Amino acid sequence: MVPDVVFVLGAPGSGKGTQCSLISKEYDYVHLSAGDLLREERQRPGSEYGEMIEEKIRNGEIVPVEVTCSLLHKAMQLSGKTRFLIDGFPRNKDNLDGWERVMSDKTKLQFILFFECSRDLCTERCLGRGAAGSGRSDDNLESLHKRFNTYLNETMPIIQHYDQQGLVRRIDAEVSPEEVFDSVKKVFNDTKRIAA
Ligand code: UDP
Ligand code: MG
Repeated sequence: MVPDVVFVLGAPGSGKGTQCSLISKEYDYVHLSAGDLLREERQRPGSEYGEMIEEKIRNGEIVPVEVTCSLLHKAMQLSGKTRFLIDGFPRNKDNLDGWERVMSDKTKLQFILFFECSRDLCTERCLGRGAAGSGRSDDNLESLHKRFNTYLNETMPIIQHYDQQGLVRRIDAEVSPEEVFDSVKKVFNDTKRIAA
């Protein structure tokens, strides 16, 4: 059976991680955060990619797809499951091409969940997360500036690419987590109905 995949995209701080954990509690999906997998790999003793990952993350740049895709593929296999929320990927053309090369035959892309949120609100949330002790080396104004530039220049074109294929499900992410989740549920319930 070919695993189902939902890509979850949106600006840094738009609520991807928060919503993915809610979704994985209510629906039968495994939440895989590309950023979390990279941060784990960065911490792994003996990793040959640790320094490169840290530098990319701090500068808001995107890690080469070979690294990210192999972490995702391994996590998918290890889970033994067949439905995945892939959070924060693909973020640029290198990610998209690399995924298509290796994974598009092995998976079925269901749709893209896209969280729309203003830059000001996203920045406020990430700074709040940093102040609350996220421990993330990129939840500071300087990194956030770079992360936003990368998002606008590199990730938005990927969302547009999928939008042309009718695969993007837009969510207003400027409201409370509960209200955002109400919109998210509509998307997942519609998908269930169509599949049934
Ligand atoms: N990152 C990456 N490739 C990915 C996902 C994340 O290179 O596929 C890096 C990138 O530097 C990004 C950082 O990890 O800015 C943090 O990503 P994450 O999705 O955790 O941050 P968020 O957007 O959720 O705040
Ligand atoms: Mg995240």
